[in-house]
Amino acid sequence: MAADFDYCIIGGGVVGLASAWCLSQHGSVLLLEKNALFGAETSSRNSEVIHAGLYYPPGSLKEQLCLRGKALLYSFCETYDVPHKAIGKLIVAPDEHNPRLTQLFTKGQQLGIPLQRLDRRALQQMEPEVDAQAALFSPSTGIVDSHALMQTLAAQAERHGALLQRHTRFLNARPEQGMWRIHTETSDGPFSLSAATLINCAGLHAQAVATRIEPVVAPLAQLRPCRGHYFSYPGAAPFSHLIYPLPPENLTGLGIHATLDLGGQVRFGPDTQYLDKDCIDDYHVSSALKKTFAQAIQRYFPALDTDRLHPDYAGIRPKLHGADQPAADFDIRRSHDSPPAIQMFGIESPGLTSSLAIGERLTEMIQRH
Ligand SMILES: Cc1cc2nc3c(=O)[nH]c(=O)nc-3n(C[C@H](O)[C@H](O)[C@H](O)COP(=O)(O)OP(=O)(O)OC[C@H]3O[C@@H](n4cnc5c(N)ncnc54)[C@H](O)[C@@H]3O)c2cc1C
Repeated sequence: MAADFDYCIIGGGVVGLASAWCLSQHGSVLLLEKNALFGAETSSRNSEVIHAGLYYPPGSLKEQLCLRGKALLYSFCETYDVPHKAIGKLIVAPDEHNPRLTQLFTKGQQLGIPLQRLDRRALQQMEPEVDAQAALFSPSTGIVDSHALMQTLAAQAERHGALLQRHTRFLNARPEQGMWRIHTETSDGPFSLSAATLINCAGLHAQAVATRIEPVVAPLAQLRPCRGHYFSYPGAAPFSHLIYPLPPENLTGLGIHATLDLGGQVRFGPDTQYLDKDCIDDYHVSSALKKTFAQAIQRYFPALDTDRLHPDYAGIRPKLHGADQPAADFDIRRSHDSPPAIQMFGIESPGLTSSLAIGERLTEMIQRH
């Protein structure tokens, strides 16, 4: 007996949608999304930066998929007219001969990432409002309209016959006659279907979803949700590039940076605040954070007008490491062989940049068997 679908994807964030687009070129796809809109969780609560791939441990999935994802994303955006811009980014250092900046420059060269070293004078010519002694300029870093990207991925997947179901919650799955028997809750009540391959792209809920795929695989990397807040800075933009301080060694975040959206509006963020596991839908931005934000921003932008800083939005990173632990990699694993299931955990930054490369990798993992 044939399954109703070749592939069933749980989660309609940018990774699930990119996977649906990739897999729809190889078979029938059903995507389940519990919310009314696609990408309403982490995929619409981020910096919308197309990362160059500079920061991640050598050989890690984050590094590989970011580098490949950046190329695929620029090409996808150009082909399908998704608004984006290679606006360029400056990583700024408080001292002239900063070893961490040199380290990033060397790493960039090894990876073939275009980078330019700037002294204080060159930096001031480029960004007169930024106060730093040295900088790295990364011209291939860009910004993308993440909503338009997800709409386009959904439309292109549907063009290839994928069925994308909103208001549909995955409840559980178990093997039955060599395929997956999948139970869902829809706005019209419970619904059950079968699929040959199951794919868990449930973001912050990936671990919870995994406990409902039988037989349950153990041990799973624990979810360590980490919220990042943003403050808007309305009015004329003081910069024309993305401005980043040097990142902390263990990459808990990338430091409170300045990003621009495609409309030219500046926002600052995100910081890092670890949350309890049951707080993964708390997106509150406290105005009490303003002082900490102002102090961090003033280190590279002394003319900051604090009256213009307003609490904006927050996103929650599905991290797999705690504040004092080394950065964990993306965890993308084939958890079950027969019938096959692939599950993804810890798809934090650079997950948006990597989304199409994750879809491509997933397709290879399925086809290899
Ligand atoms: C503050 C912040 C800043 C970031 N900045 C950047 C950046 O600048 N550049 C970059 O590349 N990346 C960035 N990222 C990372 C990027 O946003 C994520 O890696 C990416 O959005 C993850 O997408 P996803 O599809 O895996 O997860 P999500 O967007 O969380 O999607 C998962 C989906 O699964 C659905 N789901 C869960 N459980 C079920 C269920 N039982 N049934 C049905 N559906 C279910 C959810 O409703 C959700 O829509 C940032 C992240 C954060 C938090």
